[in-house]
Amino acid sequence: MNENQLSKRLKHVGEFVPEKSRLADIGSDHAYLPVALMLQNKLDFAVAGEVVKGPYESAKKQVRKNGLDEKITVRLANGLDAIEPTDAINAVTICGMGGALIRDILEAGWNNQRLNGNEYLVLQPNIGEKTLRDWLTVHGYTIVEEDILEENNKIYEIIVASRQSTRQAYTEKERLFGPILLKKRSPIFHKKWQGELTQRQRILIQLSKAAGDQHARIQQIEQEIAEIKEVLSHES
Ligand code: SAM
Repeated sequence: MNENQLSKRLKHVGEFVPEKSRLADIGSDHAYLPVALMLQNKLDFAVAGEVVKGPYESAKKQVRKNGLDEKITVRLANGLDAIEPTDAINAVTICGMGGALIRDILEAGWNNQRLNGNEYLVLQPNIGEKTLRDWLTVHGYTIVEEDILEENNKIYEIIVASRQSTRQAYTEKERLFGPILLKKRSPIFHKKWQGELTQRQRILIQLSKAAGDQHARIQQIEQEIAEIKEVLSHES
């Protein structure tokens, strides 16, 4: 993969970044996403944030190689600490990490006001999507778009959120499956949840053989299995 030929996953992420954004890409690694979007003339300015020295150096190299030093600032920083108030960032991408880590980055940024709540968020958790939707709901975000795609036998979800005047109260079911993905019910969504169902059915068999009191855990898994079956059967 390179800046001209993004992975299918990052290409889909990029499509959700609004035109003329001032973007902060957190956990940027090689800075492929901001560099590609800048080369497409989609961004006015970008920050590529990285907490690890090696990927930070790779990002710097990539930006220099493409002659974009004036347009993309690469910073070695933890999470949203990469953003300075003068950057006037209005869109944030955080991709390719677990949902809990993305949630922690957003939470820290919220608490130290690097995140002001007006940024358009394009998030791509590898796992733990519900954890992220829980955080977005509690912090008054509306999920404005969602996507699900498959690449190299892995299924990825993209969650796009912004804060709007009316607050959304998402149900537990919407936070688990995704309010928009639940409406779209694409074949990949179906495939993902079929896999999740099989996985839980296996866990249930293991729990029934396990020592100790597994009652609460069994009840929880049984409830999740019922919910998944309901969604897969297209009932709502
Ligand atoms: N965003 C790219 C993508 O989606 O292809 C790179 C994903 S890579 C798996 C995750 C990157 O996030 C790593 O380079 C890691 O060093 C960085 N990272 C992890 N925690 C971070 C944090 N708290 N702040 C900034 N970067 C972080």
